[in-house]
Amino acid sequence: MQKIPVGVLGATGMVGQQYLALLAQHPWFEVRYVAASPRNAGKLYRDAMTGRWQLATACGPEVGELRLEDANQVDAALRASKEGRLGFVFSALEMEKEAVLQLEEAYAAAGIPVISNASAHRWTPDVPMLIAEVNPGHTAIIPIQQKARGWKRGFIAVKPNCSIQSYMTPLYALLKAGYEVKRLIITTLQAVSGAGYPGVPSLDSIDNVVPYIGGEEEKSELEPLKILGQVHNGRIEPAGEPKISAHCNRVPVVNGHTACVSLEFGVKKPSIEEVKALFSSFSGVPQELGLPMAPERPIIIREEANRPQPRKDRDMDKAMAVTLGRIRPCPVFDLRFVGLSHNTIRGAAGGGVLNAELLKVQGYLG
Ligand code: NAP
Repeated sequence: MQKIPVGVLGATGMVGQQYLALLAQHPWFEVRYVAASPRNAGKLYRDAMTGRWQLATACGPEVGELRLEDANQVDAALRASKEGRLGFVFSALEMEKEAVLQLEEAYAAAGIPVISNASAHRWTPDVPMLIAEVNPGHTAIIPIQQKARGWKRGFIAVKPNCSIQSYMTPLYALLKAGYEVKRLIITTLQAVSGAGYPGVPSLDSIDNVVPYIGGEEEKSELEPLKILGQVHNGRIEPAGEPKISAHCNRVPVVNGHTACVSLEFGVKKPSIEEVKALFSSFSGVPQELGLPMAPERPIIIREEANRPQPRKDRDMDKAMAVTLGRIRPCPVFDLRFVGLSHNTIRGAAGGGVLNAELLKVQGYLG
C-alpha cells in the first residue's frame, strides 16, 4: 500500500515528538512535512531538536533531514500538498485559542484535513471530538461541516483533553452495557509532560503537588458530554449527563495521568464482579478494521491492591490501553476505581494517529 504523506504542525513540542516517534514505523502514514513556530522555521529538524528531543525512541532518520516550515504559513503546506508531499496534518500546536481556531480552519479551507490535539475546536458544534473506541460515528458530521463551510476535501476532527482518557472508556463501557451513570467525582494526578516542553519549572514540580491546572477541570467535566452526545440537526448535541466534578492536580510524574473515580449509577446497579467482567471484555474498535494503533484490549484490569502505577502500567499495549485497578464499592456513591493512561500517547499523539486510521478506513482521508 502506498503510504499517505502527512505533516505534523508543532513537530518540535512534546506531542509533536511523540507523533514523529509513533509514525516512524507506521504502515499507512509517513511524515514528509514538519512545521513549528517562526522561531524554528528554516532549520533542519535535527538541528532544531539538538538537546530538545525528550523520548527514548527516535523519529525516522529522513525526518531529521526535513526543513521545518512556519506552521502559520498555510501556503507552504498547500504547495507541499500540490507536490504530493502532504495528504493531511496532525496539529499539535500550543498557541492562543483564537490563532489556532483560525489556522486550523485555514488548513481545512485549503483542502488539507486537520486531525488536531489542540483544544481550540473542541466545542465547535460541527467538529467531532473523537475517541475511536467510544464515538466513531461522530465522523458523520464531517460532510455536514464541509458543506456548511464550502470546504471540498479539508475538514477538522479533534481529540479530547488527555485528562479524561483514563475514565472515558470505562464510563462508556458501563453505559454501553446498559447502566445509567448519574454522577462522578474525579481526582486526577497529572504528569508534567502534559504541560508541554519545558512545561512546569522543576522547582514548582519536584517534591510537590500543584492543585490547579488552568482550564483542566472544566475540560474534564464537560468534554465527556460532547463525546457521549448525538449528531443531530447539523451539530453534535452534548449528552445531559452524567454530572462530573473534577479536581485536577499536577504531580511530579513524567508521563501518565491517573484518575481516582467515584461514580453513582441509576436504578440498575451492577455488582463489582459484573463491572470487572464488562470492563475486561470491552472490545473497543472492531479488530477486523485492522487499525494499527488500536489496542487489542482497550481496558486492562490489575488486581493488585497497589496498581495501576504510572511507571509500571502506562506503556501497556503500545501505551494505548487504559489500566484500571482498585475496582471496589464506594460508600458514598456506588463504585470506585483508579484509571491510568499515557497522556502524550493515548491522550495525545497515539489517540490522534488512531483517529486518523479510523478516518482513513471510513474513507475521509487518502
Ligand atoms: P509544547 O511542547 O509546548 O509544543 C508546542 C508546539 O507548538 C511547538 O512545536 C512550538 O514550536 C509550536 N508553536 C508554539 N508557538 C507557535 C506559533 N506562534 N506558531 C506556530 N507554532 C507554534 O506543547 P505540547 O504539550 O506538545 O502540546 C501541543 C498541543 O497538544 C497543545 O494544544 C496541547 O494542549 C495539546 N495536548 C497536549 C497533551 C500533552 O500531554 N502534552 C495532551 C493532549 C493535548 P516551537 O518549538 O518552534 O516553539
